[in-house]
Amino acid sequence: MIKFLDLQKINLEYQQEIEAKLIDVFRSGWYLMGKELASFEQNLAQYTGAKYAIGVANGLDALRLILRAYIELGIMSTGDEIIVPSNTYIASILAISDNGLVPVLVEPDINTYNINISKIEEKITSKTKGILIVHLYGRVVFSEELQNLTQKYDVKIIEDNAQAIGAEWNGIKTGNLGDAAGFSFYPGKNLGALGDAGAITTNDEELTKTIRALANYGSNTKYVNIYQGLNSRLDEIQAAVLDIKLKYIDEENETRRKIARRYVDEISNSNIILPENPENESEHVWHIFLIRTEKRDELQKYLAENNVQTLIHYPIPPHKQKAYKEWNTQSFTISEKIHKEVLSLPISPVMENEAVTKIIELLNKF
Ligand SMILES: *Cc1c(COP(=O)(O)O)cnc(C)c1O
Repeated sequence: MIKFLDLQKINLEYQQEIEAKLIDVFRSGWYLMGKELASFEQNLAQYTGAKYAIGVANGLDALRLILRAYIELGIMSTGDEIIVPSNTYIASILAISDNGLVPVLVEPDINTYNINISKIEEKITSKTKGILIVHLYGRVVFSEELQNLTQKYDVKIIEDNAQAIGAEWNGIKTGNLGDAAGFSFYPGKNLGALGDAGAITTNDEELTKTIRALANYGSNTKYVNIYQGLNSRLDEIQAAVLDIKLKYIDEENETRRKIARRYVDEISNSNIILPENPENESEHVWHIFLIRTEKRDELQKYLAENNVQTLIHYPIPPHKQKAYKEWNTQSFTISEKIHKEVLSLPISPVMENEAVTKIIELLNKF
């Protein structure tokens, strides 16, 4: 059976290094806010090129905390609007509504699956305070047109970088393209922890201070609370594991690119629409390799019968979720088409060449 993602194999690549470090942390007696976190934050900042990195409990918290900090700083307030792609994973949208801000959905580009930048301006109102871009499936979304919009309308760009660590636009890494970025290190992400973990990167010192306080019960000084904060920490064990795995992320992303290149070059079934391989390959880190076909359910069944596990990212668009009843009657036709037709193939840094070959052969026979 070819698994969608073999997490055990991915992590066993670094077995000795990780196990040695885990024993160190265990024996140190220090489990939160220690030297492992400090080291990972420094290395993550350096890796992305951003000045500051802040470890937090998970990716959703990272995005929530960025927006919450903008509210505490008076840059955003309840009822303000944040633009977000209509086909993103629900967490991007939850982070907005959880803060009393209003998500404004914009349709994606059918070729890149990322927010269609040319459709953003028509959704900007006097209440728009931010654009939450999502580098979906590992592909960067950014352009000069987007930069111009932020100047023209004085809005913040927040990156949801849960899926695209290591990707670059014009030599700048994701996490350092906008005003602030949220990362997820959920085990299945390109940089995955052994549990929940997340981070924020930014060049904004004031924002960093505010987020650090918010994530620590609203406090910068013990027992002195300036905000009604929360508890969102990245623990020493997760930080230690991430610090090790960060050293290998470029290598792992390169392996993903090789597999993606093979899929794009060798799948030749006219019923299957392949993802676009960007001209500049550094713009994609292939968190997910996603194909499209009108016969999606049939194809998934056929692959399963042939021992290939696939997933759907994602089966229900956010505006059709019960959680957002107020949007259920709206239509976002491109998102709906995507959600109906997409299928994610196995891709990972530990996938064998023979497995890739087998999947290509199966798809070409379908
Ligand atoms: C995984 C993910 C998140 C949430 O991250 P968690 O660590 O699971 O909270 C947010 N946005 C996107 C696009 C994601 O893929």
